[in-house]
Amino acid sequence: MTAIVSGLSGPLAASRRECGGCTLCCKVYNVVAFGKPAGKWCSHCAPGRGCNIHDNLPAECAAFDCLWKTMPALPMHWKPDQAKMVLTVHPQTNNIQVVVDPGQKSAWTRQPYHGQLRSLAKSNMAKGHLVIVFVGEMATLILPDQDVQLGVLTLEQVVSVTLEAGPSGGAYEVKIFNRRATAGGQTLELASASLHPVRSAA
Ligand code: SF4
Ligand code: SF4
Repeated sequence: MTAIVSGLSGPLAASRRECGGCTLCCKVYNVVAFGKPAGKWCSHCAPGRGCNIHDNLPAECAAFDCLWKTMPALPMHWKPDQAKMVLTVHPQTNNIQVVVDPGQKSAWTRQPYHGQLRSLAKSNMAKGHLVIVFVGEMATLILPDQDVQLGVLTLEQVVSVTLEAGPSGGAYEVKIFNRRATAGGQTLELASASLHPVRSAA
């Protein structure tokens, strides 16, 4: 989870930050090893203090780093326990995934956060990297000029956005695909498509 993101580029892992009193990832994500659901505190977590089994972590916890830890260019107000959301970069798509504390569902709509997510969308979309906010399973795609409600988005689904030219500024075509395992590997099946007229110069 250390891919460089335009608009936030800076020295990576060399100067990793410490979690300090933040434990938000122990709430917002599921932990397969324990069957812990996303959105509930892990039973091994002392919220605001840390993990009680730190010397015996499941591999998925040991491997996890949020973007705030690995990217010092991300300002301090993005520390997840302050922002009430955790940012990561998806390892395959390089999409920026924003997972919001379910106890603070509107955190991502506050400023300066929403404006900065919009800036990230502007600076990364040309590379095909999207900014997607999750409140539980409900996803919102942040485009350079508008937010698009995607509804429930699962790990097996893939989102793509293309800017279609048109006489009045064009439109974003948002597609959601389902991943299907096949004998030859994997295939994508279109699940939905929608058009969103461009509202302003992106
Ligand atoms: S969300 Fe980030 S800063 Fe907070 S505990 Fe997890 S890894 Fe550490
Ligand atoms: S095992 Fe520890 S690091 Fe992993 S979610 Fe639970 S409290 Fe957090």
